[in-house]
Amino acid sequence: MNASGYIGRFAPSPTGQLHMGSLLAAVASWCDARHHGGEWRVRMEDLDPPREVKGASQDILATLEAFGLLWDGPVVWQSRRLTRYQDALSDLRRRSRVYPCSCTRRELAGHLVYPGHCRTGLPVGKEGRLVRFKMESGDVTWQDLILGQLSMDPLSLGDFPVLRADGFWAYQLAVVVDDMAQGITHVIRGADLLDSTPRQIQLWNALQSASNLDLASTAMPRFGHVPILENERGQKLSKQTRAKPVNAEKASEQILQVLSCLNQDTGDGELLARVREKAPVQVLKRAAELWRRIDVPSQSIESHG
Ligand SMILES: [Zn+2]
Repeated sequence: MNASGYIGRFAPSPTGQLHMGSLLAAVASWCDARHHGGEWRVRMEDLDPPREVKGASQDILATLEAFGLLWDGPVVWQSRRLTRYQDALSDLRRRSRVYPCSCTRRELAGHLVYPGHCRTGLPVGKEGRLVRFKMESGDVTWQDLILGQLSMDPLSLGDFPVLRADGFWAYQLAVVVDDMAQGITHVIRGADLLDSTPRQIQLWNALQSASNLDLASTAMPRFGHVPILENERGQKLSKQTRAKPVNAEKASEQILQVLSCLNQDTGDGELLARVREKAPVQVLKRAAELWRRIDVPSQSIESHG
């Protein structure tokens, strides 16, 4: 543990190369961690082999290095931590916080939120296909580091899978188990993940007294959500909307571009001067000194950079 007690993280999925949207999340969490004298960890969320792109993890790590987004400690690979998720599931089962669900995609067609068909038991003659976490009622409230106080009704989110029908671990469970195991204190990420926060808070509360998990921290991390980048059509930049990968040869310029989307102070041209020197590490270093947690709306950005 560092003197500041701050441990942040960036957790990409190896489903493609980093694009401007993921760069923005990485720069924001890196600057927030460094500004507060904290550590910044990288965790590869490689739990979805069908969606993985060969070579993407190594490409992402090389890109982070080229952009000067250097991390502390070893990279954590979720695919090597499967027994941890199994232990967490066993614990949730003991506490009756999860239940088997037999519903197929077709049976749930038309429902935006899981309607709770299997919450009180599987329908007669049906078998469990996946495992869902039981959300407790009562608003989930947190003090967001960037957006201020937020509150969400868990019933508007519904019970979500922790173990998928295809046998792979679901995102939410793995994230919480690993944040706990790594002692993450601050989660700075895109506002597209706002819906995940109440789910993760409830999972965290359910797991924090688990005795079979080797947990570095049982204190809930602080959450901060930065704006997401959109293309000219107002779609979130993502692999699905075919966002172009970032360009390591323009690392300094692209860092400056995301900082301006985050409405950050560019130090009276000081950052621009460092951009001209093509020194991404120096751009980031100064950006971290100037870093402020501020609420800005989603930003539109040219996706063909
Ligand atoms: Zn069901």
